[in-house]
Amino acid sequence: MRYIAKKVVGVPATDGAGVKLKRVIGSPALDLIDPFLMLDEFGSDDPQSWIAGFPDHPHRGFETVTIMLEGRVKHADSVGNQGVIEAGDVQWMTAGSGIIHSEMPERAQGRLRGFQLWVNLPGKLKMIAPRYQDVQASRIPSVSAADVTVRVIAGEGFGAKGPADTLMPVRLLDVTLHAGAVFKMDVPDAHACFVYVYEGAVRGTDRNGQALEVASGSLGVLEGTAFVTLAAGASGAKLLFADGKPIREPIARYGPFVMNTREEIQKAFEDYSRGELVTT
Ligand code: MN
Repeated sequence: MRYIAKKVVGVPATDGAGVKLKRVIGSPALDLIDPFLMLDEFGSDDPQSWIAGFPDHPHRGFETVTIMLEGRVKHADSVGNQGVIEAGDVQWMTAGSGIIHSEMPERAQGRLRGFQLWVNLPGKLKMIAPRYQDVQASRIPSVSAADVTVRVIAGEGFGAKGPADTLMPVRLLDVTLHAGAVFKMDVPDAHACFVYVYEGAVRGTDRNGQALEVASGSLGVLEGTAFVTLAAGASGAKLLFADGKPIREPIARYGPFVMNTREEIQKAFEDYSRGELVTT
């Protein structure tokens, strides 16, 4: 059985041009869960907290996964790719050797809400050609069983296969549990695994088998073997559930670049300043 080895509360952070967000992975309290480098939750009713968005910025060496719950974000990159990520959509972007892009909320909508998850790549894939997978909500299988609904974004679960094509073994689920519902998932023993609760609360067990709650705004690192079992509280729960095969390589990270060595980070900065980060 998998247990909740660590519980972490997201911390307030500011990124982009002043977007207020909650950083859950990639903070002093939780550096990473290999292969997951960062998890941010963004959004609120107050457009002032997010309207400045993320103007042009670079990435190299990993993938960014944007999961929109509400609102719209317009995406455009320096070589002409563009699109709008709408409520329910997921954009799985492989930065690879380099992209320079902007991610700008659209003011038309009153509320913005979503997540960005960063997934690392092994050294042999860090410099591959960039690619985008714009996964519309309608393409994401939504499997309902009793009082559990699971949107399978990547990997397999509940008899469905997610539309996102991942370069490494990664599963990503968006799960809704009604009051008292139980979520059970078999996870490969070698995988790292976490649950992030964004509404309500779930109850699992700690390493001693004692009941432990993970409430909205908190992440649980799930260690151990075989099955994860999480039970929703009286108000139900909504959560992101992810597992992936750890890469177990050295990580050198600085801002938008995640490589294996400091020299490679230095090279990324040099390429960026010379206008050679993006190759076409
Ligand atoms: Mn970005």
